[in-house]
Amino acid sequence: MTQPSRHAYITLVTNPDYAKGATALINSLHQTGTKADLVILHTGAVTRADLAPFLDKGCRLIEVAHLPLSDAFNQRHARGNVHASAPFTKGRKPDFHTPLDNFCKLRLWELTEYDRVVFIDADAVVLRNIDRLFSYPEFSAAPNVYESLADFHRLNSGVFVATPSKETFARMLQALDAPDAFWPRTDQTFLQQFFPDWHGLPVYFNMLQYVWFTMPALWDWNSISVLHYQYEKPWETDHPKAAQLQPLINLWHALHAGKALPDLAAMNNPEVA
Ligand code: UDP
Ligand code: MN
Repeated sequence: MTQPSRHAYITLVTNPDYAKGATALINSLHQTGTKADLVILHTGAVTRADLAPFLDKGCRLIEVAHLPLSDAFNQRHARGNVHASAPFTKGRKPDFHTPLDNFCKLRLWELTEYDRVVFIDADAVVLRNIDRLFSYPEFSAAPNVYESLADFHRLNSGVFVATPSKETFARMLQALDAPDAFWPRTDQTFLQQFFPDWHGLPVYFNMLQYVWFTMPALWDWNSISVLHYQYEKPWETDHPKAAQLQPLINLWHALHAGKALPDLAAMNNPEVA
């Protein structure tokens, strides 16, 4: 008998919009030929009808509750408060994005049946096999690069390598809901503080879509493993950056429809001289 997989790719879906995102992500992971488990963490707000297609795709569905956080914490991190206290000036979040839901990612530390997991945001797609990440240490993540060199100081929590552990999870809950704690970019700000010695992955493990127009010289289809549609989502109709990002949006739609990856090298970036 073959051993059950001790590795998993994990994403999070708390509403039907992110189920669309996860559809493209799972389709893209299948194309990489990975044998790791594909796990969808979902909240009770997602319907069976939204989840059924993932069972057909061989995913493991795990319902998770929101974290047991204080009322004061939840109030500080309500959508209106996060947007007012730490405004998003570089891009815009869609209406279906609820900051508090992001913290449900931390539930993956409870999945101790896995030795090592790779979390990937539901708004990302994988363009080549990245199974070697399962041998990278906790906590590995790529920098939050989408505008300038200063971005290298921060990590982006759309892709990371973690080792599930009940003990780590318990410590996280304590640190997360410390008195008056406010995490302006939710799980991302928290994880950076919780793992101050985080290991830096190359940016190509989490290439943020804005790099396409802000730093086109960094764009290299031969190196990009994960493409992450941070801020505006490719399934939103006519979002403010749609014209600038059209080739990347088309790529997402092809993967969402279950089509094979197009010839990426042929997708020239008009910004590169
Ligand atoms: N997410 C979710 N529902 C929400 C907010 C977030 O399911 O209301 C999950 C989803 O996997 C999403 C991730 O948490 O990809 C992080 O949010 P998002 O990707 O929108 O943030 P960004 O990458 O734009 O900072
Ligand atoms: Mn994201």
